[in-house]
Amino acid sequence: MTARQSSGPRTVTLPEAITVKGLSDRLGISPIEAIKRLMTHGVMAAMNDTIDYETAAIVSSELGIAPSPEAAAAAVATAVREDEEGEEGDEAGAPRPPVVTILGHVDHGKTSLLDAIRETNVVAGEAGGITQHIGAYQIERGGNPITFIDTPGHAAFTAMRARGAQITDVAVVVVAADDGVMPQTIEAIDHVRAADVPMIIAINKTDLPAANADRVKQQLTEQSVVVEDYGGDVLAVPVSATTGAGLGDLLESIDLVSEIQELKANPDRLATGTVIEAELDSRRGPLATILVRNGTLRQGDALVSGLISGKVKAMFDERGERLKEAGPARPVRIMGLEDVPAAGDVIEVVENERAARRIVEQTRREAEGASGVRSGHVTLDTLFHEVSAGNVKELLLILKTDVRGSAEAIRSSLQVLGTGEVKVKVIHTSTGPVSESDVMLAGASGAIILAFNVRTEPSAASQAEINGVEIRSYEVIYQLLESVEQALEGLYEPVYERVVDGTAEVRQLFRSSRVGQIAGSYVTDGTLLRGDRVRVLRNGEEVADTSCGGLRRFQDDVREVQQGFECGIVLERFDAFEEGDVLEFYHQQRVN
Ligand code: GDP
Repeated sequence: MTARQSSGPRTVTLPEAITVKGLSDRLGISPIEAIKRLMTHGVMAAMNDTIDYETAAIVSSELGIAPSPEAAAAAVATAVREDEEGEEGDEAGAPRPPVVTILGHVDHGKTSLLDAIRETNVVAGEAGGITQHIGAYQIERGGNPITFIDTPGHAAFTAMRARGAQITDVAVVVVAADDGVMPQTIEAIDHVRAADVPMIIAINKTDLPAANADRVKQQLTEQSVVVEDYGGDVLAVPVSATTGAGLGDLLESIDLVSEIQELKANPDRLATGTVIEAELDSRRGPLATILVRNGTLRQGDALVSGLISGKVKAMFDERGERLKEAGPARPVRIMGLEDVPAAGDVIEVVENERAARRIVEQTRREAEGASGVRSGHVTLDTLFHEVSAGNVKELLLILKTDVRGSAEAIRSSLQVLGTGEVKVKVIHTSTGPVSESDVMLAGASGAIILAFNVRTEPSAASQAEINGVEIRSYEVIYQLLESVEQALEGLYEPVYERVVDGTAEVRQLFRSSRVGQIAGSYVTDGTLLRGDRVRVLRNGEEVADTSCGGLRRFQDDVREVQQGFECGIVLERFDAFEEGDVLEFYHQQRVN
């Protein structure tokens, strides 16, 4: 089924879950185009990743192609139960609990706070239940449940987001009242801002004599987080995870902030969820903690998660107690998947196990048909094109520098570079090497990383490579600013320099009827590589610049020849060697 162009409006039917490749096929656009459009909505998905109907529908509507849920074909449209007919997506659903993530600097009390909040829920008679760490838990407060993601820190938060799973409704940033705002506090704030999630500040450790909540508020103001006392609109709650003081206020603030968002979901449809964490249990097989996003998950439901199918054989809550069903925003641990999914994966209920297997099979076939194209992240090279195409309105940058001073200078110079069409926004600045966390933030936000006089950690470099995140290194401020400026104006020209791999001297000439002239040469320096370009120098003057057509040692074609060896060299489109010519083997390396 593909998008149809007829006399009426274009329409497309879409299943509950589809790979990006599958979606692009149906919409008649390239997978890269689909990936780019998803990115503009904060969804970072590779070609073979699965996205849900709602997300796919947004892309399709943007293209003027009206989406509708696929009917009998994928057997999943029945997910929408009859009583929901005529309703529009989640808008018409029932209120659902908020999902909260706790972030902040190391040792400021994230884990302690999560534990203390969990304990507020231990009511009489229930105290026997031993809480287990399953990656998320839900408490109830005055009849209002709140779900907490039990993996503190922005790494998990942003990793989920990078996979297109924005599950957090409220972010609580913890700041220890004795220690104040620290580098990871700022990082956490930037990650939350980039995700556009409402933030509450928990000023923790107020029981300590050295606690100074006012100082924390001042420091936050310096980061443009202005709390209520200071005339801003960010709620800041003094708490102590140790004594339990202020926890009630914190929960109340969470209620308040989430109420404004009017969070809704439809409990009457088949469930969709996000994998929070998963593992292989030696006795029970794959176990996955799922956060139900929409619908109600029931024991016996057939499941699909990417290339994994399964069935809910048993379901447990965070106290290890069995559940028969779980509604929106409820975290549950399920048994019965055929394999271990990854955190951030979308999981969904389908009509029955046969349908589950068929969908997995279809996804597998689509995946096999797709070539391994990397996701098309915005780069300085492609920026102008993206801007012209209307795909990019803001150039998001992450700035890493050696010292604070240069960060401020570069940041303020960058901010004014924007043009009428595109704004420049630095979403995060910090000192020190480019880290995995920076790459994740860039990946999730569609940002470019500018590294000024700092190195990139090897793990970050490989992460960037995998996710197609661009890291640009500079040693001179002027060059950094110039490349951003040129990229914005569409004048950006990559600059290459020649790196010589080896040189050889022509000593004897041969002719072959098949390949033409062969230069019998001696390698005087370095290594000659078959894939190299070659300059022919005669008396110091360049007489040709071409590429290597072949390297031979005796009768064998070889990839390389090292210094001190003799070899036969054939060049592309060059047949005029003279004895004594110097052949310079080189490759181009990008320098900006
Ligand atoms: P995380 O790294 O942010 O998860 O921090 P932890 O929860 O591990 O807490 C770090 C340290 O601070 C631990 O020794 C905690 O006992 C202590 N701590 C956490 N919250 C409080 C608090 O409210 N008051 C005091 N006095 N100590 C706390």
